[in-house]
Amino acid sequence: MASTPTPNRTPEIKYTQIFINNEFVNSVSGKTFPTFNPCTEEKIADIQEGDKEDIQKAVEAAKEAFKIGSPWRRMDASKRGNLLQKLGDLIVRDADYLSSLETLDNGKPYQNAYATVVASGNSLRYFGGWADKIQGKTIPIDGDFFCYTRHEPVGVCAQIIPWNFPIILTVWKLGPALATGNVVIIKPAEQTPLTAIYLAALVKEAGFPPGVVNVVPGYGQTAGAALSGHMEVDKIAFTGSTEVGHIIMKAAAESNLKRPTLELGGKSPNVIFADAEMGSALMWAHEGVMYNSGQVCTAGSRTFVQEDIYDTFVQKSVELAKARVVGDPFDPATKNGPQIDDEQFKRIMELIESGKKEGATLECGGERIGDKGYFITPTVFSGVQDDMRIAKEEIFGPVQQIIKFKTMDEVIERANKTQYGLGAAIFTKDIDKAFTFSQAVKAGTVWVNCYNILSPMAPFGGFKMSGLGRELGEYGLQQYTEVKNVVVKIPQKNS
Ligand code: ADP
Repeated sequence: MASTPTPNRTPEIKYTQIFINNEFVNSVSGKTFPTFNPCTEEKIADIQEGDKEDIQKAVEAAKEAFKIGSPWRRMDASKRGNLLQKLGDLIVRDADYLSSLETLDNGKPYQNAYATVVASGNSLRYFGGWADKIQGKTIPIDGDFFCYTRHEPVGVCAQIIPWNFPIILTVWKLGPALATGNVVIIKPAEQTPLTAIYLAALVKEAGFPPGVVNVVPGYGQTAGAALSGHMEVDKIAFTGSTEVGHIIMKAAAESNLKRPTLELGGKSPNVIFADAEMGSALMWAHEGVMYNSGQVCTAGSRTFVQEDIYDTFVQKSVELAKARVVGDPFDPATKNGPQIDDEQFKRIMELIESGKKEGATLECGGERIGDKGYFITPTVFSGVQDDMRIAKEEIFGPVQQIIKFKTMDEVIERANKTQYGLGAAIFTKDIDKAFTFSQAVKAGTVWVNCYNILSPMAPFGGFKMSGLGRELGEYGLQQYTEVKNVVVKIPQKNS
């Protein structure tokens, strides 16, 4: 069990280096980059900056660890599972510290950071359970042959992590890769490298052999690009913007056709029918777009509300938005911390301006709070039309678009009229409506009368330009194995 959360506003920064072969090392170039506190805009620490040469070192270490006959390749699957479970235990043991680090680096409220850290530990325990259950098939092909499949690890897996959920998105990639016996190079986001680097120390403490997990912090266009274009990286898993997803897939295609898994952007429809339980729909819709300061790829940023209840829904959503406490993420009352950085902050403010210009009604919010840190007041727009930029583009901020609709057929068509297909939700008490919508909407996850419920046990990913492949659960394991078919001639008695 985790101990009671006790936030520490100034956690000691124990590690700032690159982790290769179970050792912390400086960058080959000697360069560092700063990571900032988004609340104060002040530097937290200088981090060793990984680039092409460091990635090369990490790839060499990973390849060595993956050689046939290496301790990792010879390790019993059950032992591999034990190591993963041990790593999960260590994360939970250090949950207070890791959560403080996450809040400091990312700005998310401490209690949310704590919940994701504990969930990270539990996710690794779950994936540890899979390690000795990766099974192939025997297939009765024609002739005197014994035919079976092996689900073998792919090899060197690069994992590029975004900044919105630094630790849990790292673990959600690491768990399935290690459960299936791969070796890994993690590149955390340049905005939030601290928890991934600390995780590296726990990897060593858990007892993983050197080279199995490597962590190379650095920028996307240098370290990230070196991974996605590398000829000896066998697989790449990326979570981030659709724009960068294109770049990564192109790099994979132009190098060695490494297998990509992409978790990209979204503009998820959340559809509220007039027969829904109003109080609960309001709360889920509000949390569904405001949680984590709106920095969630599945954010329900198109709230479709049926016309009969539209005005009341808008009014109550505004009350919720105005009551949402924005500020110091270490304060237990805080619901929203700052946005991650100046670039994101400016983009959100620009989109809010576009909403006003294009004729949506700004019901509340849309302002900066203070002059230090990237705090934005929770924002609600009504009167939003489908062709406005705020209804089409991913905002990644605390901005709710409330859109009016009349009928099921109409809302299905409008919900699907987007390049994205990550999440979708419907609120209704009518089971026929729930099934009709769930079947028709093009999205990787559909929630009925709830929102943003994700689990390491269930698949997660996108239709259309929201991604490629599925992560998590049994489906997620498939991304980390190659299926090998083996055919053995069976000698016949008289032949
Ligand atoms: P956002 O737009 O939300 O900041 P990005 O998609 O730019 O997110 O970044 C997510 C992750 O992708 C980060 O780790 C970042 O360093 C990395 N990244 C950014 N650009 C590239 C690139 N050209 N190649 C590989 N990785 C990249």
